[in-house]
This record gives sequence, structure tokens and C-alpha cells, in this order.
Amino acid sequence: MTARPRIVALPGDGIGPEIAGAARELLDRIGDFEVDERLVGGASIDAHGTALTPEVLEACRAADAVLLGAVGGPKWDATDPGAPRPEQGLLGLRKGMELFANLRPVRPSPALLDASPLRPERIEGTDLLVVRELTGGIYFGDRGRRDGAAFDTCVYSTAEIERIADVAFRFARSKVTSVDKANILETSRLWREVVTRVSTAHRGAALEHLLVDNAAMQLVSRPSDFDVILTENMFGDILSDEAAMLTGSIGMLPSASVGAGGPGLFEPVHGSAPDIAGTGKANPLAMFGSVAMMLRYGLGREPDAARIESAIDRALQGGLRTPDLGGSATTEDAAGAVLEHL
Ligand code: NAD
Repeated sequence: MTARPRIVALPGDGIGPEIAGAARELLDRIGDFEVDERLVGGASIDAHGTALTPEVLEACRAADAVLLGAVGGPKWDATDPGAPRPEQGLLGLRKGMELFANLRPVRPSPALLDASPLRPERIEGTDLLVVRELTGGIYFGDRGRRDGAAFDTCVYSTAEIERIADVAFRFARSKVTSVDKANILETSRLWREVVTRVSTAHRGAALEHLLVDNAAMQLVSRPSDFDVILTENMFGDILSDEAAMLTGSIGMLPSASVGAGGPGLFEPVHGSAPDIAGTGKANPLAMFGSVAMMLRYGLGREPDAARIESAIDRALQGGLRTPDLGGSATTEDAAGAVLEHL
């Protein structure tokens, strides 16, 4: 890693540039970073006719980390199936940067326990990480239609399972809960076998297996018992949204996508929120959380990541509430409140 980390910033569309602007301020306060700002999504379609140019992909691959706002919006929702679409930028980045692991931490802020649909005493102490396989499974298998029927194929190779299991054990502090449907699916039986084998190389963390239906139930009945939840692409898609609701607002949730040693991609879970773009109502905290994840997992700067997370918690304890959390703080107010607590 270079002495001065090189970050490619991709603000994107809608509220993307607003929260990316706030992130830039935060980075300026945290340290000395070289930030190279580029276009992606709809903004890139407008400028270059494509959601991701080869030059931008190359810059991302050569960076130490990539920070993305959000892409998309009604302007690019063309009915013409051949027209370029903003999401192609995201998929192109995942594929081109070989990002096979999606990490979504769920750590409800103590000040926001009341914002969760679950009772505060149930979510108190929850601090879990969903590790979702991102480039295999039913999303990428053969699909089609034949004789009035449709099919989607779920395929996982041993190597694909090994590498995602390895990521899960590396991030685990006490336990990995591997989620599958091994009573029904052959891919799940292979999944269970391989994860069990990988666990023997990581003796620091325990391993438990849960069937996905049971996991969905346990996630709302005892969320604080989980540490790392490891699962395949489709189960991860569903369970990570379920886990996300524990925190109360989508404007609070960061994520990271990482691969085999190259730079990671860090972004809020939410989209470009075109309904509030330009109004100053965007909550920048998911983006700030993504900056913290970038510092922790992408740049190996744990103390800086912890500083940001603690400043977010203290700003919320001090009463900071953007409109999605029932308050009236603007993006600028929210960013200012966090910076004050750094
Ligand atoms: P969205 O996440 O953009 O918005 C859903 C709701 O949450 C909206 O009411 C929005 O105002 C609110 N919201 C989202 N983020 C917020 C924030 N930071 N602060 C306050 N409120 C926030 O989802 P959508 O409306 O389904 O999608 C809008 C566009 O975003 C679409 O074009 C979609 O394709 C795109 N999208 C992009 C990504 C991405 O870039 N990773 C992810 C999801 C959706």
C-alpha cells in the first residue's frame, strides 16, 4: 500500500454527489488521501454513452480503494432494452474488480434502538456481519424457458465456496453461522462440507450451521447471538435486507465488496433516492459508515474507522436526526455534527 492511499471516488447519481461531498469533507479531516473523482452510472451515460468506461474501471483496479455513492434514477429508466442502464456500472465494477464477497455489518446505534421495528431489549448488543457470496449461485447459472416452463440453475464450485468461507472466518471474532438449505439442495450439501473443512484452518472461531428458514427466524428472535453470518448469493440477498431492518433506516447502512486481494468497493446500501435528491434531506451516515469500512477493511486503518463510528454514535446520542430518522437535520448539519465529534 502506498504511503498516501489512493481512493477513486464515484459519486454517481441522485443523492450520490451530495453524500460523496460529505464523505470528502470527512476524509479531509481524517488524514491525507489522494482522491480521484470519476463518473459512473447515469452521470457516465450522459457524458460517455456508457455506465462505466474502461478508463474508470482501470483507475478503480489500480486504486487502493473505491468509494461509491449510488447510481440510477428516472432519467435513465428507458423503455428501450438496448439503452445503457446505470446499474451496468455497478455490475461492471463487481465483475471487473472480481468482488466476490459482500460484507454488510449490522450494528444498531444505541441512540437509535427505538427506531427499530423490534423491541429495544431484543436488538440491544447486536453487532453482526453478513458475508454474502456475490458472483455465483442462481444469479449466474443457466436460465431459460422451455415447453411452457422456466428454469434457473444454482451452481457452486468448491473453489467458490472455499474463498468466501475463508473471508467469513477471517472476519469472525467468535463464531461463523453458515446458512444453507442442506436438507434439500445439493449445492447446500457441498457448501456445508466445504465450510466445515475450511473451518478447521481457522480454529479461533466456532462454526454453526443453520438452515435458511431457521436463520430467518433466529435473526429477529435473537439477533445479538450472531457474529458472522456466511451464506450464498440469494439467501444473502434476502437475509441481509432482513438484518438491515434491525437498524431502523436504510440511510444508516454501509457495505463493502471485496475480492481476491485487489481493492475493495465501499458504498451505502441505499440507492440514489431521486425523490429527495437536491433537497438536502439525504442522510450521509450510511456513506460515513462506508468510509469507516473502507478505512478498516480496505486500507488497514482500524483506529480511524473506530473514530468515525464513535463520532457517528455520539452525534446520534446528541440528538442528530435526519428526516428519515424523524428529525429535520440536513445533510450538511449531519456531516457537521459527526465532524464535531471526531
Ligand atoms: P433508494 O434506496 O434510492 O430509496 C428508497 C427510499 O429510501 C426513498 O424514499 C429514499 O428517499 C430513501 N432513502 C434512501 N437513501 C436515503 C438516505 N441516505 N437518506 C434519506 N433517505 C434515503 O431505493 P429506490 O427508490 O428503490 O431506488 C432509486 C434508484 O436507486 C433506482 O434507480 C435504483 O435502481 C437505484 N439503486 C441504486 C443502488 C446502488 O447504487 N447501489 C442500490 C439500490 C437502488
